[in-house]
Order: sequence, then C-alpha cells, then structure tokens
Amino acid sequence: HAKEAGRNNCTFFEPAMNARAILRQSIEAGLRLALERQEFVLHYQPKIDLASGRLVGAEALVRWRHPQRGLLLPQHFIAIAEECGLIVPLGHWVLRQACEQAQAWRRQGLPPLLMAVNTSPLEFRSAGFLPFLRQTLAETGLGPACLELELTESMLMHDVHASDRLLKAISAMGVKLAIDDFGTGYSSLSYLSQFPIHTLKIDQSFVSQMTGSKDDATIVSAVISMGKSLHKQVIAEGVETLQQCAFLTAHGCDEGQGYYFSQALDAQAFAHLRNQSRFDPAGGR
Ligand code: C2E
Ligand code: MG
Ligand code: MG
Ligand code: MG
Repeated sequence: HAKEAGRNNCTFFEPAMNARAILRQSIEAGLRLALERQEFVLHYQPKIDLASGRLVGAEALVRWRHPQRGLLLPQHFIAIAEECGLIVPLGHWVLRQACEQAQAWRRQGLPPLLMAVNTSPLEFRSAGFLPFLRQTLAETGLGPACLELELTESMLMHDVHASDRLLKAISAMGVKLAIDDFGTGYSSLSYLSQFPIHTLKIDQSFVSQMTGSKDDATIVSAVISMGKSLHKQVIAEGVETLQQCAFLTAHGCDEGQGYYFSQALDAQAFAHLRNQSRFDPAGGR
C-alpha cells in the first residue's frame, strides 16, 4: 500500500497548494482591474508631536476595497503587486491621491501637515520616479516641504550609488525623506550622514517591547539620542500605551504614531479628528 500512501500524501498537499496559487492568481488578476475600477482607498494615520500633543503629520496607508473579500490590508496584496510590477502604477496612484488629499484639506482651511507616503523599492528605482514626483507636486500644487517619502534601509543599501543620487535629487526638490522600520534592516549606519535623511522612524517591534525589555528600551533611547545628535527628526511607530508614550516623551522622542493616538482613518474621519482638541501625551486624550 506504499504506492497508495504516497499518492495520498500528494493529494493531501496539492489542494492546499492549489488554493494558495489560485488565491494569488485571483489577487493578481484583481489588482490589474482594481486601479481602473478605483477600488483602492487611502487611510491616514495621525503623527503626533509629543511635546505639544499636536497632530503634525499623516501617513497614507493604502487599502483595497475588494469586491468580494471586503477591505483588504496591504499585507494581502503589496507583496504580490511588487512581484508582478503593479506596484509602480499603484504607487503612482497613492502618491497622487495623498498629495491631492493634503491640498483638499488645505482648501478646507485645515492647518498644513506633513503627508508621508510609503515608497516601494521597485517604484523608487523605476526610471520615471523623479519626473513623476516633480509632475505630481506641480499638478497638485502641494509644497514639496509638505511631503515625506518613507523608505526602508534595505532599499537604500541595494544600490548605494544610485540611491545617493536619487535621494540628493529628491531632497534638493525640498521633499523630505524618512527611514521606515528603522533598526530592522540590513544596513550600515554610515549612510545616515551620507544620505539627506530627515526622519528616523523607530520600528514598532522595539516600541512594543521597550517598556518590558531593558534591551529594547536601550535601543530606543540610543536611537533617539543618535537622531538628535545627527539633527534628524525621530518618530516612534506602533505606540499603543500611555506607558510607551511617556517613555518616548521622557527620552525626547519628537513624534509618535500608533493606536494609542489613533488608527488609520478614512479622509473624512481624519479631517473630523483634526477639528477636535489636541492630544494630551501626558495621559488621556
Ligand atoms: P508601515 O509603513 O511600517 O506602516 C505601519 C503599519 O503599522 C500600518 O499597517 C499601520 O496601520 C500599523 N500600525 C499603526 N499603529 C499601530 C499600532 O499602534 N500597533 C500596531 N500593531 N500596528 C500599528 P498597514 O496599514 O497594514 O500597512 C502595513 C505595511 O504595508 C506598511 O508598514 C507599509 O510597509 C506597507 N504599505 C502600506 N501602504 C502602502 C503604500 O501605499 N505603498 C507601499 N509601497 N507600501 C504600503
Ligand atoms: Mg510607513
Ligand atoms: Mg513603519
Ligand atoms: Mg513597520
């Protein structure tokens, strides 16, 4: 019965693999249509200045209103979009939409904020990225100083020479640059003085552990003081508790972002939040 058992083993694994492959394929096919059908939407998560409690920025986070599966988070489609190249047109849509929204809020009389957009490696390295960035700012009228691109360390280290040129060109336009998930990538610290980086974004994995783990607390406070010495803005992501917020404030971290303040909101809810009183980082809201 060995042969039969072997066959059974095969049939045991195949359906699961097929299901995954089919799901992936349907996501890829759906992605191709989603842009035309305007199924993507941006949510915005507040960035809070810890000293004043003021909302000073927003990170644009993409979601997909999938016709069958509901609102999908990036973890379900960004990697696939990257593998099949669709991340480039999707990234263009995100950038354009985020700039338009920032301008729409200005027209509604809301104070200016820094709009942050995640940029995928493929998009960043595509030949058309710089002209598209320039064109988007020109067409939407958003001031370059109101835009920040969030990049990852690994992205910059992939081709240091090309990154260097690109980052300098972007920075010369007046657009700010942030290192996302700081501390998790494979990189050399020397790039911090070499590249025109404006902001370090401490990864949420350190933030979530820092009030329980001495090592993570040390890492977080070290990143904050290093950022200060290098004249970088430092923001902590994934701030979920008052205790974390207090730790960061006490150590002089500039900004915080996380569920403690707010999750990412649709444009209307975000505008509503901005009209309300400011956050009190010392407790309560
Ligand atoms: P990220 O840029 O590091 O974004 C932070 C993620 O953490 C977001 O998840 C956000 O909703 C979540 N988050 C915020 N506060 C908290 C908190 O207090 N606790 C916890 N546990 N999580 C928190 P989201 O929106 O699912 O995005 C995941 C990742 O997908 C992002 O990580 C980013 O790398 C990528 N992504 C999102 N939007 C875009 C986009 O438009 N383009 C590209 N290329 N990537 C995107
Ligand atoms: Mg980000
Ligand atoms: Mg991040
Ligand atoms: Mg992260």
